[in-house]
Amino acid sequence: MKTIDQNPTVCVYGGDELARYGFGADHPFGPDRFHVFWKALVDRGLESAVCKAQPVLAERAAIERFHTPEYVDEVIQRSRDGAGYLDMGDTPAFAGVYEAASYVVGSTLDAVDRIVRGECRRAFVPIAGLHHARRNSAAGFCVFNDCGVVIETLRQVYGIERVAYVDIDAHHGDGVFYAFEEDPNLILVDVHEDGRFLYPGTGAVYETGSGPAKGTKLNIPMPPNANDTLFLKLWPKIEEFVAKGRPEFILLQCGADSLDGDPITHLEYSAQAHAHAAGSLCRIAEKHCQGRILAVGGGGYNRQNLADAWTGVVKAFVETPQA
Ligand SMILES: [Zn+2]
Repeated sequence: MKTIDQNPTVCVYGGDELARYGFGADHPFGPDRFHVFWKALVDRGLESAVCKAQPVLAERAAIERFHTPEYVDEVIQRSRDGAGYLDMGDTPAFAGVYEAASYVVGSTLDAVDRIVRGECRRAFVPIAGLHHARRNSAAGFCVFNDCGVVIETLRQVYGIERVAYVDIDAHHGDGVFYAFEEDPNLILVDVHEDGRFLYPGTGAVYETGSGPAKGTKLNIPMPPNANDTLFLKLWPKIEEFVAKGRPEFILLQCGADSLDGDPITHLEYSAQAHAHAAGSLCRIAEKHCQGRILAVGGGGYNRQNLADAWTGVVKAFVETPQA
């Protein structure tokens, strides 16, 4: 079931199927994250300014555009058992984890499809942006890497090769970076807390891509306690890098764990950083990508921060003029 309301410009995905992707009430990535976001969207009067899209279940073949069949088999098995871990101890399995993770992937792919077909111009999927999962394993609360599946799908299904991936989550998006490290058509910018202080420990400035992709990736490690002043000072460099890459589609991972007060990181941005990034990337998308931009929620474990950052992104998507 898909519903489309008044404004065709911005689609936001919501529904219990997305809320199901969570690791229990006592885990930082709890199932309440979706509901907190949606309540804020309604409270701030934004729900009526977007079209609400229902979550969609991904087919296995779509997931395998990025992930190995062996790994997908493993997730299915663990999903039946509902016990143990999908990685070394951060990402617990639960009964139905395969379906929950498949809804995350399917919703992002549905968003891509609507954007490319022109059914909407911009979209936001709150419970998505699971940027740590590798092609053959889970990592850091991430089972299937929807960002990786989106990038592969843009190429394999829609023939869209040049994609810009911009990641402002506090953690380095290692699952995306290393999967496309040698890919010159994936323009990547990742602003994150310095890996010497935070998981996963990667994303140094000298990691700029390898082989034919050298120079197509921009990693910006931020010192602990970095705030909006530093973020906004660096942003023009990011804008220039993305625009110069001439992408055909922009994917923004706007993790809210880079805001001041997150329980597991040490950055101190405000929600203004996320709104600024979203508005700026919309303008670049208007100029270079026929307006095509998809944002995915990523991390964020302080509930108020998550509500502020993500509704800020949606508001910027609603308010930034079309070209
Ligand atoms: Zn994160």
